[in-house]
Amino acid sequence: MGILVIGESKENQAHLKKILKNAGYKDIVGESSAYEAFAALGIGKGGENGAGRFDLILIDSALSGMDSIETCRKIQEDVHLQDIPIVLMAEKEDDESLHRAFLAGAMDYIKKPVDKTELLARVHSLLQLKQERDRRRAREKELLDALEQLRKANGILRRLSAIDGLTGLANRRNFDEFMEKEWRRALRDAKPVSLIMIDIDHFKAYNDTYGHQGGDDCLKKVAAVIIENVKRPADLAARYGGEEFVVVLPDTKTKGAEELAEQLRKSLQAVGIPHARNTAAPVVTISLGVATLLPERGLPPSELVARADKALYAAKDGGRNQVKVAAEEERA
Ligand code: GH3
Ligand code: MG
Ligand code: MG
Repeated sequence: MGILVIGESKENQAHLKKILKNAGYKDIVGESSAYEAFAALGIGKGGENGAGRFDLILIDSALSGMDSIETCRKIQEDVHLQDIPIVLMAEKEDDESLHRAFLAGAMDYIKKPVDKTELLARVHSLLQLKQERDRRRAREKELLDALEQLRKANGILRRLSAIDGLTGLANRRNFDEFMEKEWRRALRDAKPVSLIMIDIDHFKAYNDTYGHQGGDDCLKKVAAVIIENVKRPADLAARYGGEEFVVVLPDTKTKGAEELAEQLRKSLQAVGIPHARNTAAPVVTISLGVATLLPERGLPPSELVARADKALYAAKDGGRNQVKVAAEEERA
Protein backbone atom coordinates (compact mmCIF):
# COMPACT_ATOMS: atom_id res chain seq x y z
CA MET A 1 0.00 0.00 0.00
CA GLY A 2 2.11 2.94 -1.24
CA ILE A 3 1.00 6.41 -0.18
CA LEU A 4 2.48 9.54 -1.75
CA VAL A 5 2.30 12.74 0.30
CA ILE A 6 2.92 15.95 -1.64
CA GLY A 7 3.43 19.13 0.38
CA GLU A 8 5.97 21.86 0.88
CA SER A 9 5.77 22.08 4.68
CA LYS A 10 8.16 19.65 6.32
CA GLU A 11 6.19 19.82 9.60
CA ASN A 12 2.90 18.98 7.89
CA GLN A 13 4.52 16.07 6.08
CA ALA A 14 6.08 14.75 9.28
CA HIS A 15 2.72 15.08 11.03
CA LEU A 16 0.88 13.16 8.33
CA LYS A 17 3.53 10.48 8.09
CA LYS A 18 3.44 9.98 11.84
CA ILE A 19 -0.32 9.54 11.91
CA LEU A 20 -0.21 7.10 9.00
CA LYS A 21 2.78 5.14 10.35
CA ASN A 22 1.14 4.82 13.76
CA ALA A 23 -1.94 3.45 12.03
CA GLY A 24 0.16 0.73 10.42
CA TYR A 25 0.82 2.17 6.95
CA LYS A 26 4.47 1.50 6.24
CA ASP A 27 5.13 2.57 2.69
CA ILE A 28 4.87 6.36 2.70
CA VAL A 29 6.85 8.63 0.38
CA GLY A 30 7.00 12.42 0.84
CA GLU A 31 7.72 14.88 -1.95
CA SER A 32 7.92 18.64 -1.42
CA SER A 33 6.92 19.88 -4.89
CA ALA A 34 4.72 18.93 -7.81
CA TYR A 35 7.76 18.32 -9.98
CA GLU A 36 9.43 15.96 -7.55
CA ALA A 37 6.11 14.15 -7.21
CA PHE A 38 5.79 13.86 -11.00
CA ALA A 39 9.28 12.33 -11.16
CA ALA A 40 8.32 9.81 -8.44
CA LEU A 41 5.13 8.98 -10.38
CA GLY A 42 6.99 8.68 -13.66
CA ILE A 43 4.85 11.34 -15.35
CA GLY A 44 6.34 12.14 -18.75
CA LYS A 45 7.93 8.70 -18.80
CA GLY A 46 4.77 6.70 -19.35
CA GLY A 47 3.43 6.86 -15.79
CA GLU A 48 3.47 3.07 -15.40
CA ASN A 49 6.00 3.23 -12.57
CA GLY A 50 3.76 5.38 -10.42
CA ALA A 51 0.73 3.23 -11.25
CA GLY A 52 2.40 0.16 -9.80
CA ARG A 53 3.97 2.04 -6.89
CA PHE A 54 1.23 4.14 -5.27
CA ASP A 55 -2.32 3.46 -4.14
CA LEU A 56 -3.18 6.86 -2.73
CA ILE A 57 -1.96 10.44 -3.15
CA LEU A 58 -2.40 13.19 -0.55
CA ILE A 59 -1.78 16.76 -1.75
CA ASP A 60 -1.31 19.68 0.66
CA SER A 61 -2.74 22.92 -0.75
CA ALA A 62 0.37 24.82 0.39
CA LEU A 63 2.52 24.24 -2.67
CA SER A 64 4.67 26.76 -4.45
CA GLY A 65 5.40 26.43 -8.15
CA MET A 66 2.50 24.42 -9.51
CA ASP A 67 -0.49 24.68 -7.13
CA SER A 68 -2.32 21.71 -5.66
CA ILE A 69 -5.32 21.83 -8.02
CA GLU A 70 -3.10 21.96 -11.09
CA THR A 71 -0.92 19.18 -9.65
CA CYS A 72 -4.01 17.05 -9.14
CA ARG A 73 -5.23 17.73 -12.67
CA LYS A 74 -1.84 16.87 -14.16
CA ILE A 75 -1.70 13.52 -12.35
CA GLN A 76 -5.25 12.68 -13.38
CA GLU A 77 -4.41 13.42 -17.00
CA ASP A 78 -1.98 10.49 -17.07
CA VAL A 79 -3.99 7.44 -18.17
CA HIS A 80 -1.82 5.13 -16.08
CA LEU A 81 -2.46 7.10 -12.90
CA GLN A 82 -6.19 7.70 -13.22
CA ASP A 83 -7.07 4.89 -10.83
CA ILE A 84 -5.05 6.32 -7.92
CA PRO A 85 -7.39 8.22 -5.60
CA ILE A 86 -6.22 11.78 -4.78
CA VAL A 87 -7.08 13.66 -1.57
CA LEU A 88 -6.62 17.42 -1.37
CA MET A 89 -5.96 19.03 2.00
CA ALA A 90 -6.74 22.75 2.36
CA GLU A 91 -7.71 25.37 4.93
CA LYS A 92 -10.73 26.49 2.99
CA GLU A 93 -13.74 24.29 2.64
CA ASP A 94 -15.98 26.66 0.69
CA ASP A 95 -18.08 25.50 -2.26
CA GLU A 96 -15.83 27.11 -4.83
CA SER A 97 -12.66 25.35 -3.58
CA LEU A 98 -14.44 22.00 -3.35
CA HIS A 99 -15.86 22.41 -6.81
CA ARG A 100 -12.42 23.18 -8.27
CA ALA A 101 -10.83 20.23 -6.48
CA PHE A 102 -13.38 17.72 -7.72
CA LEU A 103 -13.24 19.14 -11.24
CA ALA A 104 -9.48 18.54 -11.17
CA GLY A 105 -10.16 14.89 -10.35
CA ALA A 106 -9.74 14.80 -6.58
CA MET A 107 -11.70 11.97 -4.89
CA ASP A 108 -11.83 13.63 -1.49
CA TYR A 109 -11.14 16.87 0.34
CA ILE A 110 -9.87 17.22 3.93
CA LYS A 111 -9.89 20.44 5.89
CA LYS A 112 -6.67 21.59 7.57
CA PRO A 113 -5.44 21.28 10.22
CA VAL A 114 -5.92 17.62 9.52
CA ASP A 115 -7.85 15.70 12.12
CA LYS A 116 -6.30 12.28 12.77
CA THR A 117 -9.54 10.30 12.91
CA GLU A 118 -10.92 11.96 9.80
CA LEU A 119 -7.68 11.39 7.88
CA LEU A 120 -7.49 7.71 8.78
CA ALA A 121 -11.14 7.12 7.93
CA ARG A 122 -10.71 8.70 4.48
CA VAL A 123 -7.40 6.93 3.82
CA HIS A 124 -8.91 3.59 4.79
CA SER A 125 -11.95 3.87 2.57
CA LEU A 126 -10.01 5.25 -0.42
CA LEU A 127 -7.45 2.46 -0.21
CA GLN A 128 -10.30 -0.02 -0.19
CA LEU A 129 -11.75 1.69 -3.24
CA LYS A 130 -8.38 1.48 -4.95
CA GLN A 131 -8.10 -2.22 -4.18
CA GLU A 132 -11.53 -2.77 -5.60
CA ARG A 133 -10.58 -0.86 -8.77
CA ASP A 134 -7.38 -2.92 -9.10
CA ARG A 135 -9.32 -6.16 -8.73
CA ARG A 136 -11.82 -5.02 -11.33
CA ARG A 137 -9.05 -4.03 -13.75
CA ALA A 138 -7.33 -7.40 -13.24
CA ARG A 139 -10.60 -9.19 -13.95
CA GLU A 140 -11.15 -7.05 -17.03
CA LYS A 141 -7.66 -7.91 -18.24
CA GLU A 142 -8.17 -11.64 -17.58
CA LEU A 143 -11.41 -11.45 -19.50
CA LEU A 144 -9.78 -9.65 -22.42
CA ASP A 145 -6.92 -12.17 -22.44
CA ALA A 146 -9.42 -15.02 -22.42
CA LEU A 147 -11.37 -13.39 -25.25
CA GLU A 148 -8.18 -12.98 -27.27
CA GLN A 149 -7.29 -16.64 -26.72
CA LEU A 150 -10.77 -17.65 -27.73
CA ARG A 151 -10.52 -15.54 -30.87
CA LYS A 152 -7.23 -17.21 -31.79
CA ALA A 153 -8.57 -20.67 -31.04
CA ASN A 154 -11.60 -19.96 -33.20
CA GLY A 155 -9.37 -18.94 -36.07
CA ILE A 156 -7.32 -22.13 -35.74
CA LEU A 157 -10.48 -24.21 -35.46
CA ARG A 158 -11.97 -22.58 -38.52
CA ARG A 159 -8.83 -23.31 -40.50
CA LEU A 160 -8.59 -26.88 -39.18
CA SER A 161 -12.21 -27.61 -39.91
CA ALA A 162 -11.61 -26.63 -43.54
CA ILE A 163 -8.47 -28.69 -44.03
CA ASP A 164 -7.93 -32.38 -44.63
CA GLY A 165 -5.62 -33.64 -41.90
CA LEU A 166 -3.68 -36.12 -43.99
CA THR A 167 -2.90 -34.10 -47.10
CA GLY A 168 -3.24 -30.47 -46.01
CA LEU A 169 -5.60 -29.84 -48.93
CA ALA A 170 -9.05 -28.32 -48.49
CA ASN A 171 -11.51 -30.95 -47.22
CA ARG A 172 -14.81 -32.01 -48.71
CA ARG A 173 -16.86 -29.54 -46.68
CA ASN A 174 -14.61 -26.69 -47.75
CA PHE A 175 -14.96 -27.82 -51.35
CA ASP A 176 -18.78 -27.92 -51.13
CA GLU A 177 -18.92 -24.40 -49.68
CA PHE A 178 -16.39 -23.07 -52.18
CA MET A 179 -18.26 -24.63 -55.07
CA GLU A 180 -21.59 -23.09 -54.03
CA LYS A 181 -20.01 -19.66 -53.72
CA GLU A 182 -18.11 -19.83 -57.01
CA TRP A 183 -21.12 -21.21 -58.82
CA ARG A 184 -23.24 -18.23 -57.72
CA ARG A 185 -20.48 -15.80 -58.64
CA ALA A 186 -20.01 -17.38 -62.08
CA LEU A 187 -23.77 -17.21 -62.68
CA ARG A 188 -23.74 -13.50 -61.80
CA ASP A 189 -20.69 -12.76 -63.96
CA ALA A 190 -21.67 -15.17 -66.78
CA LYS A 191 -18.30 -16.92 -66.50
CA PRO A 192 -17.56 -20.64 -66.94
CA VAL A 193 -16.41 -22.91 -64.11
CA SER A 194 -14.17 -25.92 -64.77
CA LEU A 195 -13.67 -28.93 -62.57
CA ILE A 196 -11.04 -31.66 -62.60
CA MET A 197 -11.88 -34.91 -60.84
CA ILE A 198 -8.83 -37.01 -60.01
CA ASP A 199 -8.62 -40.66 -58.92
CA ILE A 200 -5.51 -42.73 -58.22
CA ASP A 201 -5.16 -45.78 -60.45
CA HIS A 202 -5.37 -49.19 -58.77
CA PHE A 203 -5.00 -47.71 -55.35
CA LYS A 204 -6.59 -50.68 -53.66
CA ALA A 205 -3.80 -52.83 -55.07
CA TYR A 206 -1.27 -50.21 -53.92
CA ASN A 207 -2.60 -50.48 -50.35
CA ASP A 208 -2.57 -54.27 -50.55
CA THR A 209 1.05 -54.23 -51.74
CA TYR A 210 2.62 -51.43 -49.71
CA GLY A 211 0.37 -51.38 -46.67
CA HIS A 212 -2.09 -48.76 -45.43
CA GLN A 213 0.69 -46.51 -44.13
CA GLY A 214 2.40 -46.71 -47.52
CA GLY A 215 -0.97 -45.79 -49.05
CA ASP A 216 -1.25 -42.75 -46.81
CA ASP A 217 2.25 -41.62 -47.76
CA CYS A 218 1.32 -41.99 -51.40
CA LEU A 219 -1.80 -39.83 -50.89
CA LYS A 220 0.42 -37.11 -49.38
CA LYS A 221 2.75 -37.23 -52.39
CA VAL A 222 -0.13 -37.00 -54.84
CA ALA A 223 -1.53 -34.03 -52.86
CA ALA A 224 1.91 -32.36 -52.96
CA VAL A 225 1.96 -32.64 -56.76
CA ILE A 226 -1.52 -31.08 -56.92
CA ILE A 227 -0.54 -28.24 -54.56
CA GLU A 228 2.59 -27.59 -56.61
CA ASN A 229 0.68 -27.30 -59.88
CA VAL A 230 -2.51 -25.52 -58.80
CA LYS A 231 -1.09 -22.05 -58.29
CA ARG A 232 -3.80 -19.53 -59.20
CA PRO A 233 -5.18 -17.95 -56.00
CA ALA A 234 -8.74 -18.23 -57.34
CA ASP A 235 -8.49 -22.03 -57.73
CA LEU A 236 -9.21 -24.60 -55.05
CA ALA A 237 -7.72 -28.08 -54.74
CA ALA A 238 -9.48 -30.42 -52.31
CA ARG A 239 -9.50 -34.03 -51.15
CA TYR A 240 -12.90 -35.17 -52.36
CA GLY A 241 -12.90 -38.61 -50.80
CA GLY A 242 -10.48 -41.44 -49.92
CA GLU A 243 -8.16 -41.41 -52.94
CA GLU A 244 -10.09 -38.90 -55.00
CA PHE A 245 -9.17 -35.27 -55.44
CA VAL A 246 -10.87 -32.35 -57.10
CA VAL A 247 -9.69 -29.04 -58.50
CA VAL A 248 -12.12 -26.15 -59.02
CA LEU A 249 -11.08 -23.59 -61.62
CA PRO A 250 -13.31 -20.50 -61.66
CA ASP A 251 -13.41 -18.45 -64.86
CA THR A 252 -11.57 -21.18 -66.79
CA LYS A 253 -12.53 -22.67 -70.14
CA THR A 254 -12.21 -26.33 -71.11
CA LYS A 255 -8.84 -25.89 -72.80
CA GLY A 256 -7.16 -24.37 -69.75
CA ALA A 257 -8.62 -27.05 -67.47
CA GLU A 258 -7.58 -29.84 -69.81
CA GLU A 259 -4.03 -28.47 -69.95
CA LEU A 260 -3.77 -28.31 -66.18
CA ALA A 261 -5.16 -31.86 -65.89
CA GLU A 262 -2.54 -33.13 -68.33
CA GLN A 263 0.18 -31.26 -66.42
CA LEU A 264 -0.97 -32.92 -63.17
CA ARG A 265 -0.94 -36.36 -64.77
CA LYS A 266 2.58 -35.91 -66.19
CA SER A 267 3.97 -34.34 -63.01
CA LEU A 268 2.80 -37.25 -60.85
CA GLN A 269 4.13 -39.85 -63.25
CA ALA A 270 7.48 -38.02 -63.26
CA VAL A 271 7.69 -38.31 -59.46
CA GLY A 272 7.99 -42.05 -60.09
CA ILE A 273 6.46 -43.62 -56.99
CA PRO A 274 6.82 -47.38 -57.61
CA HIS A 275 3.52 -49.22 -58.06
CA ALA A 276 4.18 -52.81 -59.17
CA ARG A 277 0.50 -53.67 -59.66
CA ASN A 278 -0.55 -50.69 -61.74
CA THR A 279 -1.69 -51.84 -65.19
CA ALA A 280 -1.08 -48.41 -66.72
CA ALA A 281 2.57 -47.86 -65.69
CA PRO A 282 5.11 -49.21 -63.18
CA VAL A 283 4.60 -46.08 -61.08
CA VAL A 284 1.64 -44.40 -59.35
CA THR A 285 -0.61 -42.69 -61.91
CA ILE A 286 -3.92 -40.88 -61.90
CA SER A 287 -6.96 -40.74 -64.13
CA LEU A 288 -8.62 -37.37 -64.57
CA GLY A 289 -12.05 -36.19 -65.70
CA VAL A 290 -12.53 -32.60 -66.84
CA ALA A 291 -15.84 -30.76 -67.17
CA THR A 292 -16.71 -27.14 -67.83
CA LEU A 293 -20.09 -25.45 -67.50
CA LEU A 294 -21.54 -22.00 -67.82
CA PRO A 295 -23.89 -21.85 -64.81
CA GLU A 296 -27.56 -21.30 -65.55
CA ARG A 297 -30.43 -20.55 -63.25
CA GLY A 298 -31.83 -23.84 -61.93
CA LEU A 299 -28.66 -25.78 -62.74
CA PRO A 300 -26.99 -26.99 -59.52
CA PRO A 301 -23.18 -27.19 -59.14
CA SER A 302 -23.56 -30.93 -58.55
CA GLU A 303 -24.20 -31.16 -62.31
CA LEU A 304 -20.60 -30.09 -62.96
CA VAL A 305 -19.32 -32.68 -60.46
CA ALA A 306 -21.43 -35.42 -62.09
CA ARG A 307 -20.05 -34.57 -65.55
CA ALA A 308 -16.43 -34.53 -64.37
CA ASP A 309 -17.07 -37.85 -62.62
CA LYS A 310 -18.47 -39.34 -65.82
CA ALA A 311 -15.39 -38.15 -67.74
CA LEU A 312 -13.18 -39.67 -65.04
CA TYR A 313 -14.83 -43.05 -65.51
CA ALA A 314 -14.27 -42.73 -69.24
CA ALA A 315 -10.56 -42.22 -68.47
CA LYS A 316 -10.57 -45.38 -66.35
CA ASP A 317 -12.34 -47.25 -69.14
CA GLY A 318 -9.85 -45.94 -71.64
CA GLY A 319 -6.99 -47.62 -69.82
CA ARG A 320 -6.23 -45.22 -66.90
CA ASN A 321 -3.32 -42.74 -66.59
CA GLN A 322 -5.12 -40.30 -68.89
CA VAL A 323 -7.29 -37.19 -69.07
CA LYS A 324 -10.83 -37.30 -70.48
CA VAL A 325 -12.94 -34.24 -71.11
CA ALA A 326 -16.75 -34.27 -70.78
CA ALA A 327 -18.52 -34.73 -74.15
CA GLU A 328 -18.45 -31.90 -76.71
CA GLU A 329 -22.08 -30.83 -76.28
CA GLU A 330 -21.45 -30.49 -72.56
CA ARG A 331 -18.56 -28.09 -73.04
CA ALA A 332 -18.79 -24.40 -72.30
P1 GH3 B 1 -9.20 -47.63 -59.90
O1 GH3 B 1 -7.97 -47.60 -60.71
O2 GH3 B 1 -10.38 -48.13 -60.67
O3 GH3 B 1 -9.49 -46.31 -59.28
O4 GH3 B 1 -8.98 -48.66 -58.76
P2 GH3 B 1 -8.79 -48.38 -57.24
O5 GH3 B 1 -8.26 -49.59 -56.59
O6 GH3 B 1 -8.00 -47.15 -57.01
O7 GH3 B 1 -10.28 -48.02 -56.80
P3 GH3 B 1 -11.14 -48.44 -55.59
O8 GH3 B 1 -12.20 -47.40 -55.39
O9 GH3 B 1 -11.59 -49.85 -55.75
O10 GH3 B 1 -10.17 -48.36 -54.32
C1 GH3 B 1 -9.84 -47.22 -53.65
C2 GH3 B 1 -9.04 -47.61 -52.48
O11 GH3 B 1 -8.48 -46.48 -51.82
C3 GH3 B 1 -9.81 -48.35 -51.42
C4 GH3 B 1 -9.24 -47.90 -50.11
O12 GH3 B 1 -8.61 -48.96 -49.45
C5 GH3 B 1 -8.22 -46.87 -50.49
N1 GH3 B 1 -8.29 -45.70 -49.64
C6 GH3 B 1 -9.30 -44.83 -49.56
N2 GH3 B 1 -8.98 -43.85 -48.63
C7 GH3 B 1 -7.75 -44.15 -48.16
C8 GH3 B 1 -6.88 -43.54 -47.19
O13 GH3 B 1 -7.19 -42.51 -46.59
N3 GH3 B 1 -5.69 -44.11 -46.97
C9 GH3 B 1 -5.31 -45.23 -47.62
N4 GH3 B 1 -4.13 -45.75 -47.34
N5 GH3 B 1 -6.11 -45.84 -48.50
C10 GH3 B 1 -7.30 -45.31 -48.78
MG1 MG C 1 -11.85 -44.17 -56.24
MG1 MG D 1 -8.75 -45.32 -57.66
